[in-house]
Amino acid sequence: MSERIFIAVAWPYADGPLHLGHIAGAYLPPDIFARYHRSKGNEVLMVSGSDQHGTPITIKAEQEGKKPSQIVSRYHQQFLDSWQRLGISFDLFTSTGTANHTEVSHDIFLTLLDKGYIYQATMSQPYCPHCRRFLPDRYIEGTCPYCHSPGARGDQCDECGKPLNPVELIDSHCRLCGTTPQFKDSTHCFLRLTAFNDRLLAWVRQQTHWRQNVLNFTMRYLEEGLKDRAITRDIDWGIPVPLDGFEDKRIYVWFEAVIGYLSAAKEWAKSSGDEGKWRSFWQGEAKSYYFIGKDNIPFHTIVWPAMLMGYDGLTLPYDVPANEFLTIEGKKLSTSRNWAVWLPDYLSRYEPDPLRYFLSINMPETGDADFSWREFIRRNNDELVATYGNLVHRVLTFVYRNFNGGVPTYDDMGTSGIRVAKIDASGKELIDKCDTLFNAVGGLLSQCHFKQALKMAMTVAHETNRYLDEKSPWKVIKEDRQAAANSLYVALNVISCLKTMLYPFLPFSSQKLHELLGFKGKIEDYGWQFHTPLPGQKLLPPEPLFSKLDEGLVEEEMARLGHASS
Ligand SMILES: [Zn+2]
Ligand SMILES: [Zn+2]
Repeated sequence: MSERIFIAVAWPYADGPLHLGHIAGAYLPPDIFARYHRSKGNEVLMVSGSDQHGTPITIKAEQEGKKPSQIVSRYHQQFLDSWQRLGISFDLFTSTGTANHTEVSHDIFLTLLDKGYIYQATMSQPYCPHCRRFLPDRYIEGTCPYCHSPGARGDQCDECGKPLNPVELIDSHCRLCGTTPQFKDSTHCFLRLTAFNDRLLAWVRQQTHWRQNVLNFTMRYLEEGLKDRAITRDIDWGIPVPLDGFEDKRIYVWFEAVIGYLSAAKEWAKSSGDEGKWRSFWQGEAKSYYFIGKDNIPFHTIVWPAMLMGYDGLTLPYDVPANEFLTIEGKKLSTSRNWAVWLPDYLSRYEPDPLRYFLSINMPETGDADFSWREFIRRNNDELVATYGNLVHRVLTFVYRNFNGGVPTYDDMGTSGIRVAKIDASGKELIDKCDTLFNAVGGLLSQCHFKQALKMAMTVAHETNRYLDEKSPWKVIKEDRQAAANSLYVALNVISCLKTMLYPFLPFSSQKLHELLGFKGKIEDYGWQFHTPLPGQKLLPPEPLFSKLDEGLVEEEMARLGHASS
């Protein structure tokens, strides 16, 4: 029976280009997961979009002297281009600027209001007397009252991940002019999170399959006790509040951005021509997975589930596999100091698969991971090129030249293929091992253990190299052509298995290998299984899957770090 898998991916703020921290944290993992499930024949819906509201956008617009909408459309286009070139296979990548999203957000807002989970209250808000404006979220900075790191914002501390209220900040100041804010009364709408504390605790306690870091963080937070949170802001950029008297306020970006997961599913359904289709991913048996960076955990394990509980009738998250952070050359990534590797920049100089490989085999799943150019080039050259690429290339080249450009005929082959043929012991051992590992890799992928899954898949390449060293078909062919054909046939089968196992991680080179092996169409349509190349199947003229990278690039790339971006 096929499963229904809803893949919800963090909405990037359309205020700047994506960097490798974003990709390792929240964008590559869901793509690996989606490709695996689609290959398995499961129904997958993977959605996200540009988050175009909130103070990150207005601050950027003010800095550049542009309208927020101009900033948004520039980066939205860039995101779409990056997804396509890196192979991040969204079923829909929309934005929070659609009429549909406003409509769905208003429905959730008004339903929660109606049920008493949203109420109005007057609160004291920071106001800059110099700039003559309220200072929501990122317009105010100060020291975090929990972890005491400087640079905490009015809505959240990036250092410890805690959501904040501006009044809690120590030594707060206006980000635009540095003035110490006054506090003025302003009426806002609040989400009654306190009403959900017990239900959330009971629910989270059942999520024993969650990653330990996500579970611990969420439990700690709930055990401390939730506070009601303001969900409107004194700002003019965002979704209007559907209440009289709130004309100069907007819905808080975090409240409506998480609703994007639902509104995107509805938009996808409408454009598919079956308007009710979103229900199959939001009601009933579907499992929903939320891929985010660790700084967004509380919004996805507490705030959004509380909103869903209050609304009632929609599926709660099944898993929230949040990743830790990626450091760059051993240092904390910083966009303001340009200590970052920008995705559009990377893609202008390199192929997508080596990056996908590096960020997968070194994924920050259970702890922070580091990206360094030296290590990137080493892994490309030693692992992708030497271990996997050369294995494929030498087998395909040798077979192509010596067996009329086709898959050799196996000795004593039965009519139903390799499983009944008389394979020698070591060949059989390799095929069996590959079969076992293939299933194990699938198991790991279904549990979002991506790093371990890729490591395991790569052992198949190692084993096959060992097998070929032992069999030496390149020498044996001179005395015993059939013995060489037999071992090459085994190798071709294992390579064919590798292309499928590696497909979720390396979609471009797997598709290429699929074609080189003489298969037609899209690799994904062949399913998550061993594709046995048939004797006589015509191969395409071999081409290398990957290219070696010059070590001199390390210095060149290092020189780009830490300087003002171009
Ligand atoms: Zn903090
Ligand atoms: Zn100011």
